[in-house]
Amino acid sequence: MALSIKSIQDINKVTDSLYKHSAEAIKKFVTTNKIHVACHSGCDTCCKTIRIEVLPTEAFYIAEKLKESYSSEKLQEIIMKLENNNSKALNKTLNEYGNQRIECAFLVNGECSIYNYRPYKCRAFLAKDADFCKKDQCYTNQVEALDYDPVIHKIVMKYINTIKENNLENEPAELHNAILKTLTDDTLLEKYLNKEKGMFDTLKF
Ligand code: SF4
Repeated sequence: MALSIKSIQDINKVTDSLYKHSAEAIKKFVTTNKIHVACHSGCDTCCKTIRIEVLPTEAFYIAEKLKESYSSEKLQEIIMKLENNNSKALNKTLNEYGNQRIECAFLVNGECSIYNYRPYKCRAFLAKDADFCKKDQCYTNQVEALDYDPVIHKIVMKYINTIKENNLENEPAELHNAILKTLTDDTLLEKYLNKEKGMFDTLKF
């Protein structure tokens, strides 16, 4: 029986579990399969070109971590960056998004400022060859096998199924849009827990 999600604490619990167990499984997958991962500190091309999608539960989780970590002045700065990126990203297809080179609002001095609570998509995006990244070809350069690893797949599906079994929205949303909404609308969490759907903008492909 899946955990009943009735509060932000429940969302945090299942999301912590996803991030912890997927990090362990990804590390094991890379070691066992002797995969060369080209990602390194200072390489941030994917954070400037790739549309990151989050599940609503991840958005609420990340917004909560931001509120815990930053002062209200700093949060206002983050909100302004999110608004700016949201206006550029809204209604853009994957390719249009990539072509605009929208730098992630959480990229600061070439590093992820939310690294410990970054979305699953960022955690699972491993590049095979740094040369492809330098040529803006991050999309063609992923360790795709990771998505098909049965252990990782099971962990991700457990998370998605927990959300589904609670009859909560589980459609992915664009990162800036989702975090902006969860940070700025105090009524959103209650609506979400009351099973309201369609609170985030629909993604275009
Ligand atoms: S959340 Fe962090 S890792 Fe993900 S795109 Fe933004 S800066 Fe990069």
